[in-house]
Amino acid sequence: MRKRIEDYDLKNKTVIVRADLNVPIKEGKVKDNSRIVASVKTIKYALDNGAKVIVLSHLGRVKNEIDKAKNGLRPVYEELNKLLDGKLNFTTLTRGPKLEAIVKDLKYGEALLLENTRFEDIDGEKESKNDPDLAKEWASLGEIFINDAFGTLHREHASNVGLAKLLPSGLGFLVVKELNELDKLDNPNRPFAIIMGGAKVSDKLGVIKTLITKADKMLIGGGMAFTFLKAKGIEIGKSLVEDEQIEYCKELLDKYGDKITLPIDFKAAHDVEDVMPMITDKISIYQMGLDIGPKTIKLFQDELLNVKTCFWNGPLGMYENPNYQEGTKRVLEFISKSEMYSILGGGDIVTCANQFGYSEGISFLSTGGGASLEYLENKDLPGLRYISEE
Ligand code: AMP
Repeated sequence: MRKRIEDYDLKNKTVIVRADLNVPIKEGKVKDNSRIVASVKTIKYALDNGAKVIVLSHLGRVKNEIDKAKNGLRPVYEELNKLLDGKLNFTTLTRGPKLEAIVKDLKYGEALLLENTRFEDIDGEKESKNDPDLAKEWASLGEIFINDAFGTLHREHASNVGLAKLLPSGLGFLVVKELNELDKLDNPNRPFAIIMGGAKVSDKLGVIKTLITKADKMLIGGGMAFTFLKAKGIEIGKSLVEDEQIEYCKELLDKYGDKITLPIDFKAAHDVEDVMPMITDKISIYQMGLDIGPKTIKLFQDELLNVKTCFWNGPLGMYENPNYQEGTKRVLEFISKSEMYSILGGGDIVTCANQFGYSEGISFLSTGGGASLEYLENKDLPGLRYISEE
């Protein structure tokens, strides 16, 4: 059994918590604070138990100084500090002797958020490539490492894997909760349905192959549906397609065709900017499909009628544009009103549920898209691998 935060005596200890505070930020304001809210329990527990807490997180991708200017953690700090009743401090540093001095001065029962761990990527991708010297320097700041960043468990970074290798470690409350929810899908109440959407098949090859063997049905929408439709010889016009995945889709359709439901109509347009999209059963060579149509919405709802468990990853249309939200909205609405046990697998589909007001009716909203998919595909995630065992 992997150790958990409750397995350690935290009194007068310096605890490094890797949280996932990677939230959307626009004009200096946090747009969706769900990941921040989800991180509070572990940090609060450590503070309440007498620890000094160092919080690490990445935010966005940081390749150059422009990214650096956009991806500072200060707006996140403002949000998190409110939720921690003013017990959080912030430093713009990520390493070095000045930081060591700040940590030394920090009181037990207080927390310190360091600046974006990926600022260390500017010079040789030290965070993202799990540089051992960076991990060593971070490890020297604390005595216990708690990984609570579910959203990055599938990555091998210095701030998660590097630290777990060097310090006595354990899992935080959020990671434990996420894994418990996903483990329920090992033995689901049936019928068990998977909904897959989003942009590309290639991002989700492994998980589709694994989940289709476990599920009773798979409904496929979004951009990825067009590679499947093309594999069936259906005209898809200028829709998103990955020609190199057609063979893979053909094989899946041959083997599991009876489990797979594809769209039968679409909201299509000449291009993304076209202000006159139309509903059609047949996409012309001049059009692209940007959402599922009303017949498909009905078809998907009918398929979900008796379903007892559902896992959904990826929106069914280009939801960022209000013209192409209907499919995702209506299926979310249907699930949120049903009795089924439903998990939304992170990323864009969770944003949709929050933005369209359907999150209340969903059983569990994961904070990690890639991590939840990789965990379902193969339970061995890098971020879990080096956590101390009991
Ligand atoms: P993913 O990160 O793979 O879950 O993909 C999410 C993205 O898929 C969103 O940005 C959507 O705009 C995009 N998407 C969904 N449906 C379509 C579609 N029919 N054509 C193009 N992009 C789509």
